[in-house]
Amino acid sequence: MKMTGTLLAFRDDLLSEIWGLAGACAGVIPEFDLLVFGNHEYFRQDEVAVPECIKSVLVFENPELEEQWDLSPHAEIAAAYLRESKSQTVFAVSGETANRVLPILSSILDGSCLIDLKAIERLPSGELCAAKGIWDMNLTARYTFNKNPIFATLQAGDRFAATNTLKPIRHNSEMINIHAYQSYEYKQSDNEGLADAPMLIVAGRGMGSRETFINAQKLAQELKAAFGATRPPVQDAIVPYPLLVGVSGTICAPDKCLILGASGAAAFAAGVEKSNTIIGVNTDPFAEIFSFCDYGLIADCREVTDAMLNYIEGHRNEF
Ligand SMILES: Cc1cc2nc3c(=O)[nH]c(=O)nc-3n(C[C@H](O)[C@H](O)[C@H](O)COP(=O)(O)OP(=O)(O)OC[C@H]3O[C@@H](n4cnc5c(N)ncnc54)[C@H](O)[C@@H]3O)c2cc1C
Repeated sequence: MKMTGTLLAFRDDLLSEIWGLAGACAGVIPEFDLLVFGNHEYFRQDEVAVPECIKSVLVFENPELEEQWDLSPHAEIAAAYLRESKSQTVFAVSGETANRVLPILSSILDGSCLIDLKAIERLPSGELCAAKGIWDMNLTARYTFNKNPIFATLQAGDRFAATNTLKPIRHNSEMINIHAYQSYEYKQSDNEGLADAPMLIVAGRGMGSRETFINAQKLAQELKAAFGATRPPVQDAIVPYPLLVGVSGTICAPDKCLILGASGAAAFAAGVEKSNTIIGVNTDPFAEIFSFCDYGLIADCREVTDAMLNYIEGHRNEF
């Protein structure tokens, strides 16, 4: 199987720099998906010419994102994509945006990150090695990355690909509609009403995967409850940041609060302790949540969610 890496491009990157980056990285990874963030004029055409090593182009365009100084939504979208594509190497052109987004991404995906590299090379052992200018660029230091996925920004502007080496490629609109993109489009109004909702459902890490989180969200919709999450699913970009409940997110005071698959850590508990009635669901009978909830259920929260959804479906005319 051919190893595929990912190139990230941002609105402020020049086309020549993006092609330069592809040229600089093609020696170490044979194929790349190119993810373009923002309204980049060139990539708005249906068909664009790209260097040989680029096998697909995905454009993430969201005017709300582009106005924001906070770049973490870009990182959340990229993280969701990278998790699906399982790409282990992510490169971008050195610049203000990329040098901020890639370290955030590397912390979300628990990888390693180096910025402002002169070059990226492959050692005879197969390991990737980064060359970086140090001591006012008088010396070149070589670093290896200690864990995957690896993220790097490169000063690659001087390797412009000649236009006659570019191949035409069509945007793959099916790819653009992938689940990750649709689900993780960031909206600032997402947490509207979380603090004042009369009923709240909070999902924690125990809820599992993106698909099962969607079920918890569905349940909240059915019960006309607000939906929130603990920090791990937010860090994993399963749930957007505005839905975080706790000291670093929203402090809620609902009448009824159903907590699915959360341990009940203090930083989270502070966000729900003002609730009138708390119902906790956890498989671990010793979980902290059971020390402060009013009703506790030792059960698999995914089964509980499914059972509640099925019950609602079977009694729809009563709701
Ligand atoms: C400065 C600081 C600020 C923080 N701010 C916040 C904050 O605002 N909000 C926040 O949430 N966290 C915050 N945290 C993190 C917090 O300390 C906890 O790490 C976090 O709340 C844990 O989230 P969790 O309960 O989802 O995950 P975990 O602690 O991993 O718990 C998952 C739970 O799910 C249970 N489980 C697993 N599978 C199932 C299943 N199938 N069914 C039912 N139960 C299951 C497990 O038994 C476990 O108890 C902060 C931490 C720090 C240091």
